[in-house]
Amino acid sequence: MDVIQHILEIRNKISDLKAKNFRIGFVPTMGALHEGHLSLVRKAKEECNIVVVSIFVNPIQFNKPEDLKNYPRTIDNDLLMLEKENCDLVFTPSEAEMYPKTETLSFDFGALDKVMEGAFRPGHFIGVAIVVKKLFEIIQQDKAYFGEKDFQQLQIIKELVRQLNIPVEIIGCPIIREKDGLAMSSRNALLDPKMRILAPEIYKSLQNAALMERSCTPQILKEIVINEINATGLRVEYFEISNPQTLLPISDWKAITDAIGCIAVQAGKVRLIDNIKL
Ligand code: AMP
Repeated sequence: MDVIQHILEIRNKISDLKAKNFRIGFVPTMGALHEGHLSLVRKAKEECNIVVVSIFVNPIQFNKPEDLKNYPRTIDNDLLMLEKENCDLVFTPSEAEMYPKTETLSFDFGALDKVMEGAFRPGHFIGVAIVVKKLFEIIQQDKAYFGEKDFQQLQIIKELVRQLNIPVEIIGCPIIREKDGLAMSSRNALLDPKMRILAPEIYKSLQNAALMERSCTPQILKEIVINEINATGLRVEYFEISNPQTLLPISDWKAITDAIGCIAVQAGKVRLIDNIKL
């Protein structure tokens, strides 16, 4: 497994591989890897000849400086995990190379980046879109793998690729969970013990909502989930029942066959997100 820090070096490596007609699969990450990330790597290994993983904590997608400062960084362990998965290339660029000047690039994603995470984390998705565009241009992958855990992000990346005609196939991969149902996240390591015990209540409540099989209106279901989770000591930031394509909230089940329930919860100092098909 090669670990490459510089853009020029990875570009050269990739163009050699492409000259040999290898299919390249790309998994962008911010490190602090867990089984969720590894599931994307395994899927990429199945479908491509060469798998590239990037590890870059992207400063411009953080809207709170303390969140960026506290973001877990475990590069040595990450590299061991990737080696075990037979990952081929790891790209670990510096901030200086990724952002030689202050970024002015912007995008218009319509409503996609205004709702949910977009409303609570201003600028977050523009920061994500900028880094993903830059990484796609460097890696020149055939396929790129993203988790459905970040459902809104996945929809925005698909829209980015559509708007810019980037030649890449975007593959969405299912959410990987801990045994108790908590969606795996690099941020879980930051949960204090009390919050770690409460955190599985998020998925329990989402599952209960799915079991109700549309027996009440979306609005009432929203209130049930929010009240249930808030009663545990966690604090719901939002729970929206939305159209999975437009991400706009729905008021009537009849409008669509496959709604998505997306939630953000503050668990002490740590913010967690999750989602479920409804
Ligand atoms: P991150 O390092 O948090 O930026 O995540 C990198 C990629 O891994 C993103 O596409 C995430 O959606 C995906 N990912 C993170 N956690 C999970 C999970 N629990 N299950 C599946 N994919 C995940």
